[in-house]
Amino acid sequence: MSVQAFCRRLPKAELHAHLHGSISTNTMQKLINDVSHTVDKSERDVWSTVINKEGKRTLHECFAVFKMIHELVTSKEALSMVTGDVIREFADDGVCYLELRTTPRPLKGISKRGYVDTVVAVIQEASNHLELPVKLLLSIDRRQSLEEALDTVEMTAEYQQKGDGVVVGIDLSGDPTKGDATTFLPALRKAREAGLKVTLHVAEVPNVAETLSLLEFGPDRVGHGTCLHPAQGGSDELVKCFESKKIPLEVCLTSNVKCRTVQSYDVHHFRDWYERGHPMALCTDDKGVFSTSLSEEYCVAHSKLNMSQVELWKLSLSTVDYTFVTDDLKRQLRHKWQDCKQNYFQQ
Ligand code: 5GP
Repeated sequence: MSVQAFCRRLPKAELHAHLHGSISTNTMQKLINDVSHTVDKSERDVWSTVINKEGKRTLHECFAVFKMIHELVTSKEALSMVTGDVIREFADDGVCYLELRTTPRPLKGISKRGYVDTVVAVIQEASNHLELPVKLLLSIDRRQSLEEALDTVEMTAEYQQKGDGVVVGIDLSGDPTKGDATTFLPALRKAREAGLKVTLHVAEVPNVAETLSLLEFGPDRVGHGTCLHPAQGGSDELVKCFESKKIPLEVCLTSNVKCRTVQSYDVHHFRDWYERGHPMALCTDDKGVFSTSLSEEYCVAHSKLNMSQVELWKLSLSTVDYTFVTDDLKRQLRHKWQDCKQNYFQQ
């Protein structure tokens, strides 16, 4: 079996996928067509060029793309459509467990809560016909105020208490060069007190003091963790703290290299943490913006980081341990992984 076929067939859990960054080129084109009657051709052409641009973008350019995507998703209908497409595409890629995250924002005629209701409704609808458990994290954007963050936490706790099991936790993300994430520590503590799971974007750019405070808070997982090591602008204290707490790391290989926070796969921090036996999950981050898929991330780990098929299998199975779900669902997922192994990999 080719590596591509192996990675496609491998059961996979996606733990770090931003909803609007995951919108594929096809869906983006649908959005552009939908606004064609209200926007002149030159603007549509700019959008098409940005969306179709392959290859690398700076971190700054990536955030400009998110802004543009937000300008296209302005209605409840558009939000429903993109959420449905994103879930279907992950399912088509052999993803067997999906955690989406998104920053609630008011859209035409709907409040932030209306936004969350819309995404939750699409997730519930998808569960009627797809064998793919989908959970949702609500994101705090670093550019927001503490009050907005506290509102997001309160809203997340309300949805969790409704008991439909879709909304499970909080994410902290947004442009890492803006704001001070430690501002949000009171909100993060409240999230924990409410029994919510918490994952934080950490050390995407060098910032030792902020990173140390976030790690000491003790999140359930962290995203990226690019600049922990002294050679990447971190410190020995950060490495020691992260290692001793064994906080699972959401690794986004293509994203890091394409937006140049990591210079090349050869120097990617994955290998070092893997050799230390640190808990890790391969993730896409923004599969639309970076033209990738979760299968592709496993292929990259094989081709660029010399991971064998056996190692990829073990890595994928271990990811189930870091999902934000009940022990019962984790058991069911592990069974699914084992069934797939018997069906596909022992022929
Ligand atoms: P949304 O939350 O609107 O569904 O997804 C897009 C948002 O996710 C962006 O505006 C940004 O706040 C966040 N995001 C996406 N990718 C990244 C990333 O690589 N790093 C950080 N820090 N935030 C990201």
